[in-house]
This record gives sequence, structure tokens and C-alpha cells, in this order.
Amino acid sequence: MAQSKHLYELQKSDLDIEMSQAALRQLVGKLGESQTLVEARAGVEVEEASLEKVRAEHRSLEEEAEVLASRIKSESERLYGGKVKSPKELSGIEQEVKALKGKKREREDRLLELMEQSDHMQMAVKEKRERLRQVEEEWREEQQQFAAEKTDLEEGLESLEERRQELAGAVGAEELRLYDTLRRSKGQAVVRIELGRCQGCRLTLSVAELQQARTGKIMQCHSCGRILYL
Ligand SMILES: [Zn+2]
Repeated sequence: MAQSKHLYELQKSDLDIEMSQAALRQLVGKLGESQTLVEARAGVEVEEASLEKVRAEHRSLEEEAEVLASRIKSESERLYGGKVKSPKELSGIEQEVKALKGKKREREDRLLELMEQSDHMQMAVKEKRERLRQVEEEWREEQQQFAAEKTDLEEGLESLEERRQELAGAVGAEELRLYDTLRRSKGQAVVRIELGRCQGCRLTLSVAELQQARTGKIMQCHSCGRILYL
């Protein structure tokens, strides 16, 4: 293979390697938890926390209602037990029982409200959990696909790098240095000659240059310095 062709192929390998590396970086960025998944999980947590708050209030109100019920019971026993005789004291107890019953009723009304609220919240939790389950399923499938793509890319990169080494080994050290310098400074080190023009800078080449390029030896465009490949 002519030297210029070798370098042209080497550049093709290098460009393919760069593309694969960029694709791999992009893919690695997509691995891990997605924003949608994080949000769906947070959605469940928020609903669960609200529900737990309502349930906690419910529990504490139930306890209060029980305490009130037992106080009503004991006060009523005093009221009707016959031990207390003083009408003033009896009237006091009666007032007390009435007040306790009022408080108990307040708690019970609130308990009913909370039960209704809790029913709605349970439905919301269920919906959010279902949404999370769907998101997780899609996410898992997507991640599996990404992982497979990653393996493919890594394998492809390995063979591209092997090919690159082969090509680089077939080029002289001096030519390789020139190629590397041009790649760094100009991006494209080797350019095709098309219709007598250097495709790097679009300059029309002389007949002598074209003839030299035809031999396949390394030659540079006199204007942009890139290696010409015919
Ligand atoms: Zn040029």
C-alpha cells in the first residue's frame, strides 16, 4: 500500500475511534438513574409522607377520644352512682360530662374527615406507585439496551484500535510524526485531491504536484501543508 494511502486509512481509523469514543461517553452519561425515575420515586415518597401524617393524626385523635370516653364513663358513674349527694357537686359533674361529650364529638367528627382524606390519599399513593413501577420497568429495559450498546461500542473500539496499531506500524516514524502534528494543528492531516484541488484548502495543485501525488509518496500541499492523497 502506498504511504499516502496508509496515512489516509490511519486517519479514517482515528476518526472512527474518536466517533466511537464520543458515542461511548454519551452512553456512559445515560447509565444510572434517570431524572424521570428519581422524580417518580420522589412522587411516591411525598404521597406516602402525607398519608402517614394523616394516619398519625388519626391515631392520636383516636387515643384522645378513648381517654375522653373513659372519663365520661367514670364521671357518669359518679353522677348516677349515688355516692355524691350534693346537688351543687352533681351539677358540676353534669356540666363536666357535657363538656367531655362535646370534646369527644369534635374528635369523632375530625376522625371522619381524616378517614375520608386517608382514602383519597391511599388512592393517590397507589397511582404514584403504579407510575413508579412503569417508569422503573421502562428504565430497566433502557438500561439493558444501553449496557448492550456499550459492550458493542467497546468491542468495536478494541478492533478499531488494533487496526490503528497495524496501520501505524506500517508507516515510517517520521511520516507518523508529521501526521500527528498535522492532526493536532489542522484536525485533518490527510486530504484527498479532487478535480486537481487540495480538499483541505481548495487550492488548485500544479501538474508536477499531481504527478508526484500519483506515485503514492508522502507529499504535502504547498499551501496548507496537509498530506495529499490521490
Ligand atoms: Zn491544501
